[in-house]
Amino acid sequence: MSAIRINGLVKRHGGVAAVQGLDLEVEPGELVVLLGPSGCGKTTTLRCLAGLEDATEGEIHIGGALVSRPGYKTPPEKRSIGMVFQSYALWPHMTVAENLAFGLRLRRLPAAEVSERVETALRLVGLSALATRNAGELSGGQQQRVALARAIVLEPEILLFDEPLSNLDAKMRERMRLEIRELQKRLGITTVYVTHDQQEAMVIADRIVLMNAGRVEQMGAPRQLYERPVTQFAADFIGVANALGGVVHSIDGARTTVAVGNAMLECTTQNDCRQGDAVDVIIRPEHVSVIPEHEGTANCLRGQVTDVIFLGSSTDIGIASGIGSLRAQVSPPGVEVPGQEVRLKVNPAAIVLLRREPAVNKA
Ligand code: ATP
Repeated sequence: MSAIRINGLVKRHGGVAAVQGLDLEVEPGELVVLLGPSGCGKTTTLRCLAGLEDATEGEIHIGGALVSRPGYKTPPEKRSIGMVFQSYALWPHMTVAENLAFGLRLRRLPAAEVSERVETALRLVGLSALATRNAGELSGGQQQRVALARAIVLEPEILLFDEPLSNLDAKMRERMRLEIRELQKRLGITTVYVTHDQQEAMVIADRIVLMNAGRVEQMGAPRQLYERPVTQFAADFIGVANALGGVVHSIDGARTTVAVGNAMLECTTQNDCRQGDAVDVIIRPEHVSVIPEHEGTANCLRGQVTDVIFLGSSTDIGIASGIGSLRAQVSPPGVEVPGQEVRLKVNPAAIVLLRREPAVNKA
């Protein structure tokens, strides 16, 4: 049985459709990330799950129980949910321990159990030493840990995160996302995590739900979304993509040949193209390599370096080529310089072909 099941969720605010028919099942212990640009409906979906918004249409089940359908809603406090927000929403003048104990006391748990649970939760997030400090005196990273501890101390069935790391600096964000991931796996709590940061999503998620304008664009494991985007939006949103226009020239078994610019590219990845189809040809920068002269033939091109960005462990190179402008990520770093003529190879097993929708005939 799924831990969360959402069927046909629609949420309208007046004339604005924030979510437009979302279906999602989350397995027990799974961490699902809702990812997408600002305004795509991530937070609204999360708030409907938490019971903070009334869904306009559709049903939500948590742990097999119906918690929302039009005209009926289980209130937030009756759903076994812990939430962590971007703003930590702590009580600054209470101690860390009191912040955690508050919700447990509301549930009238015996004092001994309250202090035992508070101690355990603080140990889990590495804050035992700060239990008696006022929450308002802590650093951003520490406050975020208190917010996390406050969510898990209630032992919820489900954890919901809404952009929890947005207020932290880059280093602390990287550290906290690994900590959240590790803790979530250790506790095995089913989790839905909202972010617009694709890197954060890739690091933390078992599965990413990529949203666009209130709908699901694509869902799958991070690697699947990166290597096999099904739309140009997905290819663009996750990682860097060279996207070129082409026409399918011929298909020979598993090999598709595509005319791109003034060259032909061979592609051996699975696709549903037919001869003559207009396609978007998606190539990740790490699948464009700079090769020595006289080496290789298939998918080899000439190009001229336009710019070079040194990234430490690799170099990002802009190249003008017969198939168009490309970005290549070369690792280990090469010694290319702007203006240099280079020979390139595009890996045929890593090219994604997306059929373009036929143009609508308006005549
Ligand atoms: P962000 O990353 O910026 O938080 P989001 O993907 O979480 O964006 P939502 O906050 O869910 O997006 O908003 C989705 C759409 O619904 C947006 O167009 C937003 O303006 C609209 N919206 C959200 N809440 C309300 C509201 N209370 N009243 C009117 N419109 C709303």
